[in-house]
Amino acid sequence: MPDIVVKKSRISGIGVFAARDFKEGDIVLKWDTGYILTKAEFEKMTREDKRYITFFDKKYVFMQPPERYVNHSCNPNTIGKDFCDVANKDISKGEEITSDYSDYADEDLNFECRCKGKSCKGFVKYQAPKDNI
Ligand SMILES: [Zn+2]
Repeated sequence: MPDIVVKKSRISGIGVFAARDFKEGDIVLKWDTGYILTKAEFEKMTREDKRYITFFDKKYVFMQPPERYVNHSCNPNTIGKDFCDVANKDISKGEEITSDYSDYADEDLNFECRCKGKSCKGFVKYQAPKDNI
C-alpha cells in the first residue's frame, strides 16, 4: 500500500496526494538526500532545475520524484523536518500534500501562488536563511 500517489493537481501541474490517512506528526514523505549540492553546483543549474531545489538545513537539496511534486500552499499540511515532509495536521486520504515553499526558498524563487486558500499570500518570496542565529 503506497502512502502517496502522484497525479494531476488543481494547484499546478501534478501534485502528491495522500493515499491513506495521516495523523499530525506522521512522516508523509522521506526525501531522497542523495542529491545535496554545493552552492557552486547550485549556481550552475538552470532556472528550471532550480525550481526543484529545497534550501534546507543550509543545504541545497535537489528534490527527486515524488517529493519534488509537492505543491506550494500558503496553508500547507506538511512542514519540512529532518529531510522529510511531516504532517502538521491530520490529512485525509485523497487530500493534496502541500508545503510552504517560502520556508525553504532560494533567491531565485519568486512566483505567484495559486493555492486559492483563504490565507493565500498571493505570491511566494525568498526569506533569507537565518544564518546569524
Ligand atoms: Zn497561496
